[in-house]
Amino acid sequence: MSTPASSRLPAQAAPACPECGGAVMRVLRTANDKRRWDAQAWRRYRCRDAMCNWQGLLPARRRRPSRPRPGAARTLRRLARALLWLLLAGLVAGGGLAALHLMLQP
Ligand SMILES: [Zn+2]
Repeated sequence: MSTPASSRLPAQAAPACPECGGAVMRVLRTANDKRRWDAQAWRRYRCRDAMCNWQGLLPARRRRPSRPRPGAARTLRRLARALLWLLLAGLVAGGGLAALHLMLQP
């Protein structure tokens, strides 16, 4: 069952229970957990399923540095639109010049 609190979070932000694949909840780390040299990279979770009751450490989610920035696609689209306008302006100018040329001809 999904509580309002868990449904508010993005789906990929919450890890799944390695035992049953169900939802897990953050719990306080033990003193042993904090003593790890890479303690910052781990989070202690407990399975929400009372039948499973798994508890353990899962790797902390970190931002992937190789994620493409959303700005790149927007810039490309803006550039394409600018090119389209340039093409339209060129066509209009070209048409005007051709009309002028026809009008000036005897
Ligand atoms: Zn579980």
